[in-house]
Amino acid sequence: MTDDRTRDTAFGFRRVAEDEKQGLVNEVFAKAAERYDQMNDLMSGGLHRLWKDDFVTMLSPPKGAQAFHVLDVAGGTGDIAFRIVKAGGSGTHVTVADISPEMVGEGRKRCEREGLLSRCDFTVGNAEALAFPDKSFDAYTIAFGIRNVTHIDRALKEAYRVLKPGGRFLCLEFSHVDVPLLDRIYDAYSFTVIPAVGKVVTGDGQPYRYLVESIRTFPDQEAFRAMIEEAGFARASYRNLTGGVVAIHSGWRI
Ligand code: SAM
Repeated sequence: MTDDRTRDTAFGFRRVAEDEKQGLVNEVFAKAAERYDQMNDLMSGGLHRLWKDDFVTMLSPPKGAQAFHVLDVAGGTGDIAFRIVKAGGSGTHVTVADISPEMVGEGRKRCEREGLLSRCDFTVGNAEALAFPDKSFDAYTIAFGIRNVTHIDRALKEAYRVLKPGGRFLCLEFSHVDVPLLDRIYDAYSFTVIPAVGKVVTGDGQPYRYLVESIRTFPDQEAFRAMIEEAGFARASYRNLTGGVVAIHSGWRI
């Protein structure tokens, strides 16, 4: 019989035991936490801001005082959470759940600086086993997080469980480029420039090599859409941004 100790999984291009992967991912983000926001701007040339804006526009939090509670999983330093509460009305509240205490620590500091402590709270938690009751959130968001999770199917089931009926699942993630030539330029950029910039800025290129490799081993748009459907979500669909460099997947809890 196989279990998490004997099954293997992708950690970037390496195969590791399933029960080893999360620890390795956590090391990556513990190292990256302090410079994470700066690196995002450098690596994407600021594009991640436009993708995140688009993502939050798609969520479209209500403008009024009606209660709208969002769970932002793998929310890291709060980029998505802050955008959501700024876009929504006074009733919009975001709970961030991220497995890395270092990323959550950076997020809390930023939240205080932005004066948003009454609208967001930061918690440490694993996407695969969320510490929230069934049917407790109006929306579940996850941005650039799901590909780091060891058992994506478990995380999707948890997303379904914590959403209220009628609640929305939205995922922003790097995906597979479907534009000829752009795919080759993107490959060259990812495998040379990103780890090199990572090394110069943080002194260590390895975390950034993992981030790039993990994009390539993540299921493509259609395969991930099917996984969302498999978890029980209705109307599972996706939209590509920047030729498929990233995609937004959507589903509804029924
Ligand atoms: N959502 C933020 C953003 O878009 O800027 C942060 C994304 S960052 C690339 C990925 C985050 O996923 C990290 O903060 C990491 O700690 C978190 N993460 C990795 N595995 C996780 C898991 N199993 N459960 C919850 N968070 C996880």
